[in-house]
Amino acid sequence: MSLLLVHPPVTKACEPPAGIARLAGMLSRHGVEHELLDANLEGLVYLMTRPGEGSDRWTKRAYRNAHRNLTALKERQTYQNSDRYRRTVFDLNRVLEASSVSFAAGVSLSNYQQHNLSPVRSGDLLHAAEVPEDNPFFSYFSKRLTELLCNNPRKAVGFSLNFLSQALCTFAMVGFLRRYFPELTLIVGGGLVTSWMHKPDWVNPFGGLVDHLAAGPGEHALLSFLGVEADKEALYRPEYQALPGDEYFSPGFILPYSASAGCYWNRCSFCPERAEKNPYVPVPVHQAIADLHSLTAQTRPVLIHLLDNALSPALLKALCLDPPGVPWYGFARITQHFINQDFCEALKRCGCVMLKLGLESGSQDVLDREHKGVNLEMAATALATIKTAGIATYAYLLFGTPSETAETARETLHFTAAHSEYIDFLNLAIFNLPVYAPDTHELATQPAYEGDLSLYTGFVHPQGWHRGLVRQFLDKEFKRHPAVASILRRDPPFFTSNHAPFFCDGL
Ligand code: SF4
Repeated sequence: MSLLLVHPPVTKACEPPAGIARLAGMLSRHGVEHELLDANLEGLVYLMTRPGEGSDRWTKRAYRNAHRNLTALKERQTYQNSDRYRRTVFDLNRVLEASSVSFAAGVSLSNYQQHNLSPVRSGDLLHAAEVPEDNPFFSYFSKRLTELLCNNPRKAVGFSLNFLSQALCTFAMVGFLRRYFPELTLIVGGGLVTSWMHKPDWVNPFGGLVDHLAAGPGEHALLSFLGVEADKEALYRPEYQALPGDEYFSPGFILPYSASAGCYWNRCSFCPERAEKNPYVPVPVHQAIADLHSLTAQTRPVLIHLLDNALSPALLKALCLDPPGVPWYGFARITQHFINQDFCEALKRCGCVMLKLGLESGSQDVLDREHKGVNLEMAATALATIKTAGIATYAYLLFGTPSETAETARETLHFTAAHSEYIDFLNLAIFNLPVYAPDTHELATQPAYEGDLSLYTGFVHPQGWHRGLVRQFLDKEFKRHPAVASILRRDPPFFTSNHAPFFCDGL
């Protein structure tokens, strides 16, 4: 059995896809012949570099400079001048927009949309499969998949579908293969498929099209499909050699690595990880450190992206004792450890350039009701201690949770403004209620408001703090506060936290 594993468009193409790299590590360990295709990276480059002109001055300039801008995105000096960086990114994005408009689609550096088609409606995904020619990537993937499968016939093709922004393109590719290579076994797995299949009312609508939908860690599903006897608990080191390391849209190779699946805290209300009952499965700390050393030696990255939902204190301590020798960043919960100056300085010395921190709210009441396990006073000290140690902070705020009101949202504004000198970057999100969250029954929900595959449901906010009001507050008040506005201006467009470390000390 030989396999082709595909990472479909569109995701941010600044680092190699961790999903198919992990599967490649597993397949190599079991001696299964395979090939990887980052169709996202190749597809975006294809759209950005094929001839075109555009009708207005900006689009003409963007097309003319596309090759040069792609090169600039891989050069460190571009990141030393934020205006130059922004112009480069916006110009490349302009080409993507212009090249997809005739398909009634909107391709960007971080998203994919298609007019009249929704990635949360199974009927629309089946339609995308029926008419793959309507997809703006069609001329790329039809040629590329044909070439790969004719040169090297495969028994099966697996798609790694993790984000909504990949769904319509994945099904367009699946539809193409089903039509022209009917003998192939088609498998679709990944985080998004896992979430779909965890829905309590799940009924597979893709039976006639996709041979296998795989929920959960792709390794286990693939192994059982391949009929390979293997330890279900085995953890595999990802393999990146088969991916084009120097083609990604970053100034050097970024090494993605997951030291755990799930979350060690797993208590926040309405967290999708908790709602889906995803178990916490950490890679043993000594193995994670050994993996990082080995992968660093192999791939020579300029930056390590730790993908965990929350880096465990045990792993952070181990990194301090045995640093990977390369700058790194990742998500951490705000815990007591970060009010310790020595600990933060040790983190800085072991390469930590930026921490992503789920602060969520500046109201103690909201934090308590949402079971964040964060004390605001401690959070304020942690932000200052982390920043003083020379580590940048990327704070995540969540508005419109069932326990928030307009007053408590304003407390978040006051907290953010009061501590703005310790916050380098901000991510603002509006709360979505997972359809199957354990606490959903406490709220008056509205019927599925987007489609049968929607992972979220509408709800009547118990305090009347509805999405429209939240959005208005964010646009008219929160984002306009001068302290907040100046933080938001720093955020790298499209690439956000993935490129933010390149604007921080230590890189
Ligand atoms: S820390 Fe993050 S991943 Fe963990 S339970 Fe809370 S929201 Fe979910």
